[in-house]
Amino acid sequence: MHSYDTQFIDGQFIATGGQATFEVTNPATERVIGRVAAATPEDIDTAVAAARRAFDAWAVLPRAHRLDILIGLAAEIERRGDDLAAVICEEVGTPIGEARALQVGLAQLSLQTTIDVLADHDPDAYTQVANSRVYREPIGVVAAISPWNYPLLLSMTKIAPALAAGCTVVHKPSEVTPLNALLFAEITAAAGVPAGVYNVLIGDGPTIGEPLVRHRDIDMVAFTGSTRAGRRVYELAANTVKKINLELGGKSANIILPDADLTQAVDAGVRQVFFASGQACFAWSRVLVPRERLAEAEKIARRTAESYILGSPTDPATTLGPVVSKPQQQRVRHYIRTALDEGAHVVTGGADQPAETPTGYFVAGTILSNVTPDMTVAREEIFGPVVCLMPYDSEEDAIRIANDTDYGLHGAVFSGDVEHATAVARRLRTGRVDINGAPNNLDAPFGGYRQSGVGREFGRAGFDEFLETKAIQY
Ligand code: NAD
Repeated sequence: MHSYDTQFIDGQFIATGGQATFEVTNPATERVIGRVAAATPEDIDTAVAAARRAFDAWAVLPRAHRLDILIGLAAEIERRGDDLAAVICEEVGTPIGEARALQVGLAQLSLQTTIDVLADHDPDAYTQVANSRVYREPIGVVAAISPWNYPLLLSMTKIAPALAAGCTVVHKPSEVTPLNALLFAEITAAAGVPAGVYNVLIGDGPTIGEPLVRHRDIDMVAFTGSTRAGRRVYELAANTVKKINLELGGKSANIILPDADLTQAVDAGVRQVFFASGQACFAWSRVLVPRERLAEAEKIARRTAESYILGSPTDPATTLGPVVSKPQQQRVRHYIRTALDEGAHVVTGGADQPAETPTGYFVAGTILSNVTPDMTVAREEIFGPVVCLMPYDSEEDAIRIANDTDYGLHGAVFSGDVEHATAVARRLRTGRVDINGAPNNLDAPFGGYRQSGVGREFGRAGFDEFLETKAIQY
């Protein structure tokens, strides 16, 4: 049993005065594996004050020193990488291999790309604009609010660039998966991140998230989560005119053009959705297939989906873990049932508890077909291992369907002609598009059009979010 009755404030684990606690449940066993004390309103003020005090020295620390500390942090994460993966496997349910390679591995890569950006950024450099020198300076104290699905990665995409830019951070991880954040706090202390530069408060959105967003001494909010909560953060931040970075939901389309290699495109599409049991904002949950090839696509998708092995996330043979919680399992099942009521059909999977995993919040890898643009599953984020096959009649039709959404985070185009695929990608109203299953690039900007968010994370663009601009005239 993991047990914490502390918050991480000013470089130390400090006992919290409140009585409230959060239970952490292992979604594969349905057993409580941790008890974590919630922060109090006083803890919020103490943490923000610590971050504010630390900012003065951290912001002006020579770049070489900041780099040394971040490189030390990367080394300490590598040393504790298996522990982080084990905790994420336990509290999120990600299969252990995927937890090490993606949940922790991508967080490490994100920190490394930020270190490279900082090595390339001279904080004293300026751009001469006529009689002005234009400088970039750290924005101040950042509230980082992160979700449960990729808890370490989506914390790192805020913490690393904020620290690199010279900002200090008060982090509120998801109350559903707080254990990895508390372990990360230990790691920052062991790596010599100075007291107050990074602080962690445990709590839910209304009790801890909202007061942090409203706090006068917070200069910027970097948030990843649902569009519903992001909208609330946006409203609250307006009161003190804070800078915000919002990474929100998605309903991304994978357009498979008639000249694509259908087997490769459908197989890659299903695999992309099944990462983290479909609990990914970037999931290509709508797969757009030429109508005359729908039956063929169904067969390919079925083969890929049925090749996944459900089971305990600690078993290295498991390739599909549970979803994070009972409410999440019920939500995903509800979406599958609604799709059937609205006229889609199940190719494989479905809403029932999978026979091979009678315990745990599992959802079978599910392929829905004949999904039409008006159906609920084509419009709302499912956040589970569910792929919607949608037929289209022409390329124009496919582009129209892809853009017929409130979201605009990610997408894919598969085609035998890369230039043609690029022309289609340019017409998609979305922040990222992968051509023919291209590898992920953590140096490139990541973020959404429309209700998928405001601003960008990753690489240089993600780093720049944490800088203010100052012009000095001569
Ligand atoms: P969520 O919105 O419920 O919670 C996210 C975080 O915000 C948590 O720490 C939560 O405690 C906090 N929060 C909730 N309400 C708040 C409020 N009113 N004020 C301040 N903080 C608040 O989301 P979740 O269920 O943890 O994560 C799933 C969602 O996150 C999905 O919609 C998914 O698409 C989105 N997501 C987006 C990205 C991206 O990069 N665009 C990445 C991953 C997940």
